[in-house]
Amino acid sequence: MLNSYTALARALLVPLALLVAAHYTQPYLHAVPPAYQPLLTAMPYVAALLPAIIALLLNQSRVVCIAVLLMLCYWGLTTARAVALSDPFQAAVLFSACGILVPLNIALFSRLRERGILSGHGVLRLGLLLVQLGLVLWVIAANRVDILQLVTREFLPFQHAGLRLPHGALLAFLLAILLQFWQLRRDQAVLTGGLLLVLLAVAVACNRADTYMVPETFLTAAALMLVTSLVLHTHHIAYRDELTGLPSRRALNEHLAALGRRYTIAMLDVDHFKQFNDTYGHDVGDQVLRMVASQIRRIGGGGRAYRYGGEEFTVVFSGKDKEQARPHLEAVREAIADYPLVLRGKDRPDSAKTGRNRRGQGRRQQTVNITISIGMAERTRDLRDPELVIKAADEALYRAKNAGRNRLVG
Ligand code: GH3
Ligand code: MG
Ligand code: MG
Repeated sequence: MLNSYTALARALLVPLALLVAAHYTQPYLHAVPPAYQPLLTAMPYVAALLPAIIALLLNQSRVVCIAVLLMLCYWGLTTARAVALSDPFQAAVLFSACGILVPLNIALFSRLRERGILSGHGVLRLGLLLVQLGLVLWVIAANRVDILQLVTREFLPFQHAGLRLPHGALLAFLLAILLQFWQLRRDQAVLTGGLLLVLLAVAVACNRADTYMVPETFLTAAALMLVTSLVLHTHHIAYRDELTGLPSRRALNEHLAALGRRYTIAMLDVDHFKQFNDTYGHDVGDQVLRMVASQIRRIGGGGRAYRYGGEEFTVVFSGKDKEQARPHLEAVREAIADYPLVLRGKDRPDSAKTGRNRRGQGRRQQTVNITISIGMAERTRDLRDPELVIKAADEALYRAKNAGRNRLVG
C-alpha cells in the first residue's frame, strides 16, 4: 500500500511518459530505412523479454505471465495483419482473441496473489495461457466460423469510425480497466497502477492493429511500462513496512545519512504493548500498530514517520529544533490517547449484515485506549551524528516510561 496518491502518481510518471512517447513516435517510424525495419518489428519481443527475465529472477509469476501475454498479443496482432488478405478468417480470429483474452488475462493476473513461479501455482498460471492459445489455434484449425461469429457479434447500439475493436473486445477492455481502477483504489500499489496503463497501451495496439508500426510501438511501450512498474514495485516492497505501510528501517537509515546540520529525532513506543498482546492476542496487537501508525503518519511540521521495528516508531524533523517539533509530537500523542479503538476480536460477526444488526440493536462494542510515550533529541555540538541523537532520544523515551508513560520527554 502506498502512503498517498501523490506517491503513486510519481511512481506512474515513467509508464505514463512511455505511453505518450509511443503516441508521438509511431508516425515517424515510417521514415526509418527499410534495412532497419526488422529491428523495429523485433522490438516488442526484446522489450517484453526484459520484464520476463527480471520477474523470473525475482520469482514474480504474475509479471512473467503478463510479459508472455504481451509477446503472444504482438504475435497475434502482427500475424493477423500479415494474413489479412490471404486468410481473413484466421486474421479475424487472432484479432478478436487478442482484443478479448489479453485484457481479461491482465486483469486476472493483476488480482492473483503472488505465489512464485516454480510452485504449482506458477506452472498452473503459465498453463492457463497455453490452454487459451491452444483453444485459439484450434478454432483456426477446425475452421469454427460459428465461434468467431459468436464472439464478434455486434450488440452495442453505436458505431464509430475510430473504433475497430469488436464489441466483445471493447467490453473486455472496459471491464478490465474498471477492475483495475477498483483494485487500485483498494491497494494503491505501483504494479496495479502500472498495469492500468499497460492495459491502455494494449487497447491502442489492438484497436489500430492494422496500422503499420502501431502494435510495434504500443506493445514495446507496454513491455517497458511493465518492467518499470516491476522495478518500482520491488523498490517499494523493500522500503515499506508491510504491516503499517510506513517507510521501513532501511528508508530511515537513508534519510538519516542525508540529514543536514539541524534536525530533531523522536522515538515513539506503544505503552504496555506486551501486556496488550498477551491479553487480546497478536491480531489485535497488529490492529493497534496499524492505528498508531496511521496517526503518526499524519504528523505535521514536516515530520517524517518510520517504523523502527516492533512497536517502536521514529519521526525525523529535518531543519527543526526540539521546540518546533514539540507541538506536533504532543498532538500525535493526544490523538492516539483519545482514539477509541474498537476491538475486532474472536467475537467478530461473520458477515457484515450480522454486524449491522448487532450495532443496530445497540450492542455495546468493546473499545480500548492506547497510549504512547515519546522521547526526543536534537542535533547539538555534542550529539553530532544521527546515531547519537537517536541514542539520546531513546534515553529520553526511557525517562518518559519511568515518569508514568503517555508523555513526551526531551
Ligand atoms: P512499555 O510500556 O515499557 O513499552 O511496555 P511494552 O510491553 O510495550 O514493552 P516491550 O518492549 O516489553 O514489549 C514489546 C512487545 O511488542 C513484544 C512483542 O510481543 C510485541 N510486538 C513486537 N512487534 C510486534 C508486531 O509486529 N505485532 C504484534 N502484534 N506485536 C509485536
Ligand atoms: Mg518497545
Ligand atoms: Mg512498548
